[in-house]
Amino acid sequence: MPEQRRHWKSRSTEHGVHFFQRQTGINLLLEELKLPEQTWAVAPRYVSVALTNACELKCPYCYAAKRPARLGARETSAWLKELDRGGCLGVGFGGGEPTLHSEFSTICQTTAIETDMAVSFTTHGHRITEELATQLRGYVHFIRVSVDGIGATYEKNRGRTFDDLQRRIDLIAGICRFGINVVVTDQTAWELNSLLDYAERWGAEELLLLPEQGTAGRSGIGELAYAEMIRWLASHRRSNIRVGISRMADLSGVSIADAFPMEDRLSAHAHIDANGGLRTDAFTQKRIPIRESVIEALRELREAV
Ligand code: SF4
Repeated sequence: MPEQRRHWKSRSTEHGVHFFQRQTGINLLLEELKLPEQTWAVAPRYVSVALTNACELKCPYCYAAKRPARLGARETSAWLKELDRGGCLGVGFGGGEPTLHSEFSTICQTTAIETDMAVSFTTHGHRITEELATQLRGYVHFIRVSVDGIGATYEKNRGRTFDDLQRRIDLIAGICRFGINVVVTDQTAWELNSLLDYAERWGAEELLLLPEQGTAGRSGIGELAYAEMIRWLASHRRSNIRVGISRMADLSGVSIADAFPMEDRLSAHAHIDANGGLRTDAFTQKRIPIRESVIEALRELREAV
């Protein structure tokens, strides 16, 4: 049965005690409350997990690994339970396209039932059906939908119709809270106002900008587009939608609100790839294979980076 009650999960660190409610996404940090060191979290605050490298789309700027790989539901569940006990507050499933994993809904349900972590996933949206929406409702707390441009720009980037995306977003809005992810490229940088308008119209909570990273054959976001994105960030109209930007971006010269400026990288986030390797993020090649314990792999990764 999907959960009904709302409860707070706490995470104690050297910086205070962080309370988090996964149903609403509310965060509360009590910096003046310092608990003994033996209570401090050993897991990162947030973990992303690439369930599969598979994806049926061919976005030109895709950075996902192309070698076929997928995680098993049982090993994923064991790692997530260990991370939950270690103080992790949320997991974000991705890929590739996570909904292509044959046990996707089971993995989301098991994680929501067996842990206190928030369950989220990032998707292109085109595989969300009424049936999948029913399986996920009550077991997923936030969905990030990739919307790289409006209308023709979107269709050129994603090879799917914008009309179909709108139908899928209606289904997604009926599952849980959701946000819009935008890969900011030399094309999409000039459509951020329209994307903010669409995010509002659809009822999204967040607009997350992901400046395009360089991959083999692509150099990433160009200087002009980057400058336009920074200009827009500094001057966009007021909105109830939370506007965020990936930590991968170089934000020198931009004022942003960061609730955890003192947190080191691996305390904030770690990434599990579809081959069962632990990394600091999806773009970094350095990886530690997870054997029995993901916390043990985290210790090894800390020493290696
Ligand atoms: S939808 Fe995502 S994973 Fe699939 S090709 Fe596009 S960027 Fe890559």
